[in-house]
Amino acid sequence: MPARAYLGLGSNLNSPPRQIKAALKAIAKLPSTQLIRCAPWYQSLAVGPGSQPRYINTVVAIDTLLKPRALLQALQQIERQQGRKRIVRWGPRTLDLDILLYANQSLNTRRLQIPHPRLGERNFVVLPLADIAPELSLPDSTPLARLLANCSPEGIVRLVTTASGGRTE
Ligand code: AMP
Repeated sequence: MPARAYLGLGSNLNSPPRQIKAALKAIAKLPSTQLIRCAPWYQSLAVGPGSQPRYINTVVAIDTLLKPRALLQALQQIERQQGRKRIVRWGPRTLDLDILLYANQSLNTRRLQIPHPRLGERNFVVLPLADIAPELSLPDSTPLARLLANCSPEGIVRLVTTASGGRTE
């Protein structure tokens, strides 16, 4: 039985729209995985050191038979393929892929925390997630709608041209 998971995508280097499109293609090709929905794209101000270019962010829903660790490895492989180098924590990156939620599971290991620990603090995650899954609740039963209500709209705009928007199935 596949698990429904939600992934966060972000890029602020090397033509972010191109990076996001390439990542969507790569995610759709993951083994035993189906890309179910893509949220609209958002442009957001960078969180992190120094002055950085703005990000393009979005969220996708997938159904996958990959277990969380295998999914993380597969996503890190996609990040590497797209030239991501881990130099500065929260520094600029060609591609950042996060597992936001994986079914109703909670996981807290050194390498992987699910739900993603900063999910609720980030408007560039909460807004697109609410676009495609407004009824969602976290494993601790917190409704996404509550995170959305507490989410600041500062520093973020929804992009009108959503090359990825709508259903992909
Ligand atoms: P970042 O530089 O923000 O992409 O963080 C990457 C590190 O976060 C990786 O080494 C992962 O092992 C770890 N990590 C922990 N939880 C998650 C998660 N839910 N999704 C993606 N990476 C995670």
